[in-house]
Order: sequence, then C-alpha cells, then structure tokens
Amino acid sequence: MSSLPLQSTPPHLLEMDPPALSAWFTQHEEPSFRAKQVFQWIYERGATSFEEMTNLSKPLRERLGQSFRIYKSEIIRRGVSSDGTVKLLLRWPDGATSECVMIPTETRRTACISSQVGCPAQCRFCASGIGGLVRNLTTGEIVEQVLRISAEATLAGGQLSNVVFMGLGEPLANYDAVLRAVRMINAPWGPNIGARKITISTVGLPRMIHRLAGEGLQINLALSLHAPSDALRQELIPWAERIGLEQLVDACRHYFEKTGREITLEYILLHNVNDRPQHASQLASFCRQLRCNVNLIRYNPVEGLPYERPASEAAHGFVEALRRHGVNAHIRTSRGLDIDAACGQLRRKELAEAGTNSVP
Ligand code: SF4
Repeated sequence: MSSLPLQSTPPHLLEMDPPALSAWFTQHEEPSFRAKQVFQWIYERGATSFEEMTNLSKPLRERLGQSFRIYKSEIIRRGVSSDGTVKLLLRWPDGATSECVMIPTETRRTACISSQVGCPAQCRFCASGIGGLVRNLTTGEIVEQVLRISAEATLAGGQLSNVVFMGLGEPLANYDAVLRAVRMINAPWGPNIGARKITISTVGLPRMIHRLAGEGLQINLALSLHAPSDALRQELIPWAERIGLEQLVDACRHYFEKTGREITLEYILLHNVNDRPQHASQLASFCRQLRCNVNLIRYNPVEGLPYERPASEAAHGFVEALRRHGVNAHIRTSRGLDIDAACGQLRRKELAEAGTNSVP
C-alpha cells in the first residue's frame, strides 16, 4: 500500500457518532442535544454545510465550521446514464479518487459504494484491481458516499433504499472501517437503511466471513465466486491461490447458520472462459452445498483487458442450465453501460487522462 501524505484538514464529521459529537459539545460548554440537531440536519434534511443549520446560533455554526468538515470529497465527474444510473467519481483531500453509483429501479434506489481506493484482490478481469490497492477508505468516507448517492436518489425523485458494498475494493480487507460504517448507515440517527437492505460483497476471506457472522447484524453477504472450480478461480482471481472453494463453503455455511441470510453468489459471465455448459453443471454442484442464489452478470468489457461480454443467448442458456439443476439463478440487468458503470472504469479513465496509471 502506498503511503500518501494526508493533508491536514479538520476532522470529518461523518466519522462521528452521537456519543462522540455530544462529548464535543459538552467540552465546548454547549448542551449535548445539539449533536442530535446536527445529525438531523445532515441525515434527515440533507444539509451539506453548517450554515444551513438555522436552529444553531451563528457563533456556534462558525465554530463547528472551523472544527469539522461535513463533506470531504469533491465530485470531479458525474455521469448520468440513459437508464437513470448515476455514477460519481469523488476526489478526497489527499488526491485519491473513488467511485460510487446510484442505481434506480422501479422499486429501489441502490447506492453501490467503494470500500477502498483501488483493490488488493486484482481480479484479472476488473478495472478496479489494475494498479492494486492505494489505501483504505475511512468510515466517514464510506458514509459520505452514501450521502452523495442519497442526494442523487432524491434528485431522481426517490429515496435511497439499499446500500451495496460492490464498488472499488474488498470490504472485508478494510473490516473495521466498513463495519463501523455499516452500523452508522443502519443507525436510526443516521441514513437509517435497514440491515437487510445492506449487502457486503466479498471475493471471499473466510476468517472475516466468520467474524462478520458473529456481529449480530442481519446484513446480506454476496460472494464473488466467478468460477466453479479452484483451478479456474485461481486463473481469474489471484487471491484464490490461498483460499480454496472448500474453505469458502464452510465460511458461507457458517454465515447462513448464524444469520439466517441466504448467500448470494455473484458470477460474472466471461465469454468462452466460464460460461460453457460444463461450468454451469460445476456451479450447480457447488450450489448444492449451500443455501444460496446466483446472480449472473454479463461482463462489461474493460479496455486493455482480454475478456469479452458473452452474447445474451449464451447467458440465457447458462441461467436455464442452472435452473434445470434446481438452482435459483437470475441474470442481473447491466446498468449504466453508456457511462463506464463497470466498477473502476471511470476512475481508470480519469487516471489515464491525467497521464498516470498509478496512484492515487
Ligand atoms: S472484482 Fe472486486 S475484488 Fe476483484 S479486483 Fe475488482 S473490486 Fe477487487
């Protein structure tokens, strides 16, 4: 991981929970209920500055403004797809960039957010993995993405309903910050998104899945499987060399036993790589070991990478084969194809245009 010098900016208010902010008010000889007022402004009313908080005195607003930043990022790109998907590229004070996406459907407004800048897993088909990990995102930076996307959902005439950790990074490799963020996103004083509406997607870190199972949270777990055998998985996901499918089955079973939440298996269909009939029957055998459903995603091509998107017929043949084996499987509709919506693509484009393919 590269160590970027962090510019000295005031503390991020979105890192704080009610006890921490109440303590700050008490220290500054103000009643602690002010914390509740501030959080109401931010999380219920969408305030982005202290100036808007008109039930606080002007001197107090100024003091808050000198002491904290509510939003730390700058939106440097905003893409709106013809299907309503909105993708934001955010730049943080240290120059690092990350992506988040608002995905609207008839019934939901989903925030797809990042947990890291870059990704340590370096899956061969993924734009986010190119260049590896730059740094972890902080809890506040994760929550800030949710608020940015919540504002987009409101702009689109709806309300944020779901949060998925499926953007840049491996959430379980930034466990503490992600878990704190999950609790805040779920909190009644915060964005208040129900735990069952929050999904963590992981490439599969068994030890961390066991730990997550013990957190007492009803969040969903999605396992990025992408291959039905160890050999093929190792070709596609370098981390799979250290983690076999058997370990993942154990961890996912444990997760289901502890939480009662069925596991979602994410499977990106890559033309002629993992989309053949034999892969469907291997995947069906894998599924028989778990309480799970399968989400198939037709690959969104990434410039410079050798993988191709399978034809729609091939994808339908694959899902039908799984269903004949009794697997609950669906093809996820590709969203935002016209705005580089595949994870990591917008950031990669920005880096290329800025003349660097390295960090941040
Ligand atoms: S697919 Fe997910 S885990 Fe793999 S490199 Fe991309 S962001 Fe990381």
